[in-house]
Amino acid sequence: MVGRIEDSSDIPVNLWKVAGLRSVVSSRVITVGDIASQDMTECASFAQQSALAVEKVTKIHPQRKYLVLLPRTNAEFAKWTLGTSSDDDGMYVAPQSSGAAGWIAIDTGESIGSGATVLDNPSFLEHVVRHEFFHANTLPEIDSVGNAPKWVIEGFAEWFASSADVVFPQHAPPAVLPTKDHEFAHDTKTHAYARSFMFISYLVARFGQAAAIRFYKRALEPAYGTTAASFAHVFGHSLASVEHAWAQQYRKQVAGLTVDVYEA
Ligand SMILES: [Zn+2]
Repeated sequence: MVGRIEDSSDIPVNLWKVAGLRSVVSSRVITVGDIASQDMTECASFAQQSALAVEKVTKIHPQRKYLVLLPRTNAEFAKWTLGTSSDDDGMYVAPQSSGAAGWIAIDTGESIGSGATVLDNPSFLEHVVRHEFFHANTLPEIDSVGNAPKWVIEGFAEWFASSADVVFPQHAPPAVLPTKDHEFAHDTKTHAYARSFMFISYLVARFGQAAAIRFYKRALEPAYGTTAASFAHVFGHSLASVEHAWAQQYRKQVAGLTVDVYEA
């Protein structure tokens, strides 16, 4: 198990030198971390379930197992994500070179208030794991994102994660698509993730999951042109007209949410 990590250049992290490292291997996932053994077991179980669930939705079945890293502290999380993470609860680190594999890291030490961490809220933990698995399953290459904007990439990951629980702001943000990628870096102000999630959920409800996934895959492919072109091709309506229709029903959509975690 640790062989893959030790021998491979996939993960430029000196992981095998960490004291108290544990691993759990399931049919689809290798989970490695230095957290308590019962937490490892729980996370590994969410990871395996997420892997099976995402492959069922996307019909993408990678040959190799997914790798999930579970650092105990925020400092380790920063190292195990190569310092690319900020205050995220989880992260998918895309492959560092062509042909290498990416990996998922969950910030198990991340505070969710009142001295609790993500490990203390299983449905939120499962949400984080599912979100990252959507990325890991659909973005296997160094450049998989293509020219897809973040509202597509993050909106679909949040939609897939929402079956574990729904994370939403206390006060609903406006029904406007966050089309500028930099809005995602200031999420506490923009709630770009929540807005994208609501739009993708609307797409799935209106056009069906299969069409929505077709659009997602097409949006990743630069050869198909702009996101708006892929959108019109798959759904037979312009992005602008569907965004307008989404805004029309938004209040009702918000009222129908069952939210587990409210953000400030
Ligand atoms: Zn994400």
